[in-house]
Amino acid sequence: MKSEFDFNMLSKRSSVIKPSTTMLVDDQAKALVAAGEDVISFCAGEPDFPTPDIIKDKAIDIIKNGWTGYTSASGLMSLKEAICRKLKRDNNLNYAPEQIVVSNGAKHSIYNALQAIINEEDEVIIPNPFWVSYPEMVKLNGGKPVPVELDGDDGFAYHFERLEALVTDKTKAIIINSPNNPTGVVYSRETLQMIGEFACRHNLWIISDEVYEKLVYDGTHVSIAEISDEIKERTILVNGLSKAYSMTGWRIGYMAAPTEIAKVSGSIQSHSTSNPNTIAQHAAVTALDDAEEALTEYAEIFRKRRDLMLRELDLVKGVTVIRPQGAFYVMANISELYGKSYQGEIINDCWDFARMLLDTEKVATVPGSAFGDDRMIRMAYACSDERIIEGIRRMKEFTDALD
Ligand code: PLP
Repeated sequence: MKSEFDFNMLSKRSSVIKPSTTMLVDDQAKALVAAGEDVISFCAGEPDFPTPDIIKDKAIDIIKNGWTGYTSASGLMSLKEAICRKLKRDNNLNYAPEQIVVSNGAKHSIYNALQAIINEEDEVIIPNPFWVSYPEMVKLNGGKPVPVELDGDDGFAYHFERLEALVTDKTKAIIINSPNNPTGVVYSRETLQMIGEFACRHNLWIISDEVYEKLVYDGTHVSIAEISDEIKERTILVNGLSKAYSMTGWRIGYMAAPTEIAKVSGSIQSHSTSNPNTIAQHAAVTALDDAEEALTEYAEIFRKRRDLMLRELDLVKGVTVIRPQGAFYVMANISELYGKSYQGEIINDCWDFARMLLDTEKVATVPGSAFGDDRMIRMAYACSDERIIEGIRRMKEFTDALD
């Protein structure tokens, strides 16, 4: 007989980690599809476009030319230079290659950043709603995530008195994300300035996740590092190619940071993963230097889908939406429907709503509590217009049938 697994043999850190809800829900939807169901998934955190040909062709050339060995652990010099050019061109930021570390996606860059700055029990402020991985990554590094509440009712605006009230002598950093997953909010220059001043006042690091930078439909993207040199010196800017260039599987992200942080992060990486995939790094140079056209085309498609999604959701009773300005997600407030029932079964929370919608209408959404807000569901519009229209038609059928 197989012996029971002894959970005491696991590390304390691994036992406090929750699996990623977005990946769990996505897996459930994929399993239904594999079983032959016509599922419409609004779960996906990735664009549904192909990687542009010019990038794919570069990767094929690199393989054929045999450039398949290791690079420097912190990334290929030509890619670091291309990243510096991008930061100058798009963000008017001056960085030197030794301030850049290329990693296996923006997620890995954030993880490296936390490894570089967090001591046991250090506190990290995370605006709530948040991307699912931030609190877990903080915990994995021995730190304590401290959520600061933002309300959908006022467009997820910052209330700085709430931030001030959370600061202790253990507060080490704040993680910000604009354009935001899951809310779609794009931070204004004024908000960024106030966050920057807050961080300066309390001597905090700012981890600024800008991975959705290229997907902005209202307003413009501003990097917090642009606001002032004083703020830039405490900012670890994180970006990547996954979302903008439809390169999620290539796994290329990067940080731009004060030299000492980059040096330490490079060392951490040299003892954990070594360099990110060499072929993907070469292709990333082409993406950053030569793929602007595809990027603009993709962003325009997303803008149209955002508008379509908002128009269709407006027809669904009991669902209110906070207009997203960027990324490719909508947070829909469904709390008005709590207490109603479908064929005798009561909807108590966002988990019930998401499960019942998937069971009855085969529409997959992510419960908002995964992002810290249990009044919501998150719906990604990384699918075709037809799927958006059909998915929301089914959702309307479900909500219309509630008693
Ligand atoms: N940051 C945010 C806010 C995200 O939503 C995601 C992916 O969903 C990432 C980072 C990770 O991106 P990457 O594929 O570059 O690791």
